Amino acid sequence: MHPSLATLDEKIVAMDVWHVALPVNSRRDHGIGTVANAIEIVVVKLTSESGSVGYGEASPWAVFTGTAEGNFAALDRYLRPYVVGKKLSDFEVVMALAQKAVVHCTDGKAALEAAWLDLAGRILSKPVWELLGEKCRNEIPLSCSLANPDFDQDIALAERLVDDGVRYVKLKTGFKDHAFDLMRLETLKRDFPSLTVRVDYNQGLSVEQAMKQVPEIDKLEPSFIEQPVAFHEYDAMARLREMTSVPLLADESVFGPEDMRRAIRENICDGVSVKIMKSGGMVRGMQVAEIAAEAGLPGYGGDMFETGLAHLAGVHMIAVAPNISLGCEFYQATYYLEQDLMTAPFPIKNGMVQVPDGPGLGMDMDVELMEKLCVRKSRK
Ligand code: MG
Repeated sequence: MHPSLATLDEKIVAMDVWHVALPVNSRRDHGIGTVANAIEIVVVKLTSESGSVGYGEASPWAVFTGTAEGNFAALDRYLRPYVVGKKLSDFEVVMALAQKAVVHCTDGKAALEAAWLDLAGRILSKPVWELLGEKCRNEIPLSCSLANPDFDQDIALAERLVDDGVRYVKLKTGFKDHAFDLMRLETLKRDFPSLTVRVDYNQGLSVEQAMKQVPEIDKLEPSFIEQPVAFHEYDAMARLREMTSVPLLADESVFGPEDMRRAIRENICDGVSVKIMKSGGMVRGMQVAEIAAEAGLPGYGGDMFETGLAHLAGVHMIAVAPNISLGCEFYQATYYLEQDLMTAPFPIKNGMVQVPDGPGLGMDMDVELMEKLCVRKSRK
């Protein structure tokens, strides 16, 4: 961490927590479940004694990392006693205590960390990436996921993406049938030559199905294939890695640094999707990336169903993580939400996410909109 963080004597005097539901523009099917109508997130705001504020987001998905209700309770009840009254310089101690205060709830821990560093960065007039490390890139290639059960709607989205200069898409597979997956992958590769197409099963296949279907998808040469089987099927992942010629990525199999070490030991992947909502924050996400780098594996900037606030934390992490080199999927703020929670558009130029250099996370919350979409709120 940047040494200036250790000099911050200001105390945190208040912590607000919101559970927010944000309407979305379409249904999305994934191997493990469906999202429709709205996504549910938790926002935390920390206030310091000088009146400065910082925000962070937890973006849980019930079938993947957990629930909004669980993460709301983690922040409001179980993490709050470790936060209010603490000096901003206590960051590392508090995050270590948070790891032990409540199991799982990685999204809530990521939200706490983002709010803390947003607040510290604003007081120090430094971007969060500068607090985390050394910047290695100014922009990140954007990938948009295609997951609409109505493929015609995804074709229309792909056309819009090409017009916008986006060069990567990830096709969500394993939620309907194999023929549907083959047809969509073939169509995208044939009709959209400017797009690099990846495939993500989100654990949608049984081991038996995967052994038959994944090699056929491999023959169509997507640029990688992500997590065909359940997170705990390490043996099957290792076997599939042997059977495929394109890289096999682990997502649900690797949450934090502990999983990454095991994934490397057991040879389950050629790369990893790094997400702050799985690792429990930017610092632990950077650790996942560093362990992967030591084994020569690249990282991909994954995300959950997020607003621009959570995207920003991911952007600051990738800005200082050299081997997260496969781009990022921070598309929801621009292409999926009816309205984002930030006061300005999420920064994407010609298909590249721009790393902000302003203080903290670098963008402001639309607090009025958040209050309007709020399901429940707590403040102490
Ligand atoms: Mg994935």
